[in-house]
Amino acid sequence: MTFQAPKGTFDWMPPRSEWALAVRDALAAPARRAGYGYVETPAFEDTALFARGVGESTDIVTKEMYTFTSRGGQSLTLRPEGTASVMRAVLEHGLYGGPLPIKLWYSGSYFRYERAQAGRYRHFSQVGAEALGAEDPALDAELIVLAMDGYASLGLSGVRLLLNSLGCKECRPAYRAALQDFLRGLDLDEATRNRIEINPLRVLDDKRPEVRAQLDGAPLVTDHLCGACKAYHEEVRGLLTAAGVAYEDDPRLVRGLDYYTRTTFEFLHDGLGAQSAVGGGGRYDGLSEQIGGPALPSVGWALGVDRTVLAMEAEGLLAERPGGVEVFAVPLGEEARRRVFPLVSELRRAGLAVDMAFGGRGVKGAMKAADRSGARYALILGDRDIEAGAVQVKDLTTADQTAVPLAEVVAFLKGKLS
Ligand code: AMP
Repeated sequence: MTFQAPKGTFDWMPPRSEWALAVRDALAAPARRAGYGYVETPAFEDTALFARGVGESTDIVTKEMYTFTSRGGQSLTLRPEGTASVMRAVLEHGLYGGPLPIKLWYSGSYFRYERAQAGRYRHFSQVGAEALGAEDPALDAELIVLAMDGYASLGLSGVRLLLNSLGCKECRPAYRAALQDFLRGLDLDEATRNRIEINPLRVLDDKRPEVRAQLDGAPLVTDHLCGACKAYHEEVRGLLTAAGVAYEDDPRLVRGLDYYTRTTFEFLHDGLGAQSAVGGGGRYDGLSEQIGGPALPSVGWALGVDRTVLAMEAEGLLAERPGGVEVFAVPLGEEARRRVFPLVSELRRAGLAVDMAFGGRGVKGAMKAADRSGARYALILGDRDIEAGAVQVKDLTTADQTAVPLAEVVAFLKGKLS
């Protein structure tokens, strides 16, 4: 019997897996440089945290959670997103009593029982950043700029930023009611009609053409913002422009999670087909109170690692292989292996990335392995070299070969590769 990865999941295998690591690092780097500290929370939480935090009426909570009962009888859920867990941790550790905002970043696996398709998986990876405990348009703008800088540092040029404001608890209820009035007059199926009563903003997000066609005249949230929300949103837009970040206003941008208020944004890439969001986020001023905490206005984002790799592929950015080794050693015979092994260890300790041929496959196979490794230099050691106390250093890009005394190899290669 053989096994396969479960439906909707896949393995990151080398060399492609190197890109997953590189993307994770690159997306987190700007936040780390901006004072965000690393947080790691459990991969599962009390089910009620997500039910209350993400929202009982969301697709995530009603259809997509991996929920199970532990042997101790507790209902637990594999985390479908990161924000509720980070908020839970901040509340549990009382960080809100200290300096604000609390800036945190994280990275890990998330789980949603989704309809599996290209770019949409049941197990996926995100990098997230949250700034908790401050209501300041500069913080919203900071997070957006950090995400855009992360994408740009990977060489991506096709990431578009969509921006909206969802209003606050002062102005959203009136908008919600106006939207409900409009939606109740449309020709919709029963499930969608139910959604109008529970979560009308989500109807705006319906992708079906027959629904979309009816939404043209829908009231827009941006026409219903209160003075404070309008001013806040203008400030965010101005700061983005000042930082050189282009955005598109999208008054229909809503998000799949209930906790968003005011600023919401999404990062799209047009090379991805239907699953075009490479990241998204926004302000969630009510989440803390929703899960039993004090008022703690916050803003954050989550960027999809898997889809960012796909976006890079669509832009032809995966050609150059990240990682890999710089030097590949080829011992010709057993005595040569005994001598090469400590040399390889020494080179690695000196900071070089080094591999060697294993399995005694003969020169041809070993040289093929050297080529495949992507190394710039091969170190070849045969009986004659041992006698001469030297090793052949072959530049695999030019095929030039020079004999270097064994005692000088480390310094020689360090000089070449630095
Ligand atoms: P969300 O929490 O839904 O806003 O997700 C933030 C980002 O995570 C999205 O923009 C995607 O890039 C990524 N993402 C969310 N769900 C999935 C999924 N099922 N498969 C792959 N990536 C996902």
